Amino acid sequence: MISEFTRYQKGISVETLFPTSLEKKCACGCGMQLIGRKKKWYSRDCQQKSLQMFYIIKGDTQVIRELVFKRDQGFCYSCGVFDENWQADHILPVYKGGGAKGLENFQTLCPYCHKNKTKLDRIPYCLDIHTTSVNIFHSPLERFRAFHKSTVKDVIGY
Ligand SMILES: [Zn+2]
Ligand SMILES: [Zn+2]
Repeated sequence: MISEFTRYQKGISVETLFPTSLEKKCACGCGMQLIGRKKKWYSRDCQQKSLQMFYIIKGDTQVIRELVFKRDQGFCYSCGVFDENWQADHILPVYKGGGAKGLENFQTLCPYCHKNKTKLDRIPYCLDIHTTSVNIFHSPLERFRAFHKSTVKDVIGY
């Protein structure tokens, strides 16, 4: 039901991600034993963290933007400049399997750097053939440099 190649996970529920444990353990995975009348979560904190994770994985734009802003304050991860029109970028693009991931796969980019990164993301094969050291987790700036190196190599023929 969960696809890493889709931006929005449709039809998933909290139960899908955090099934109620038959052994009366907290569904968040913290390992705490449920006591008294508790049915699913050990603490309110466990519940809130899990619900937040659920919305992020589901692809809820509003929740994701709120949390990314709380963390990055609108500063572009690539050029370091604050931009009020900042965008939340999937570091590993959705079409490469970057969907249904936690907040660690999101970064703030200004519209300019976002456009550049999107352009570079679309030419992965060219990069992969010529520079084996380039991988998807490099920053957009590194990828930009790597790309120019590879086009130079193409032109001079080695
Ligand atoms: Zn817990
Ligand atoms: Zn930028």
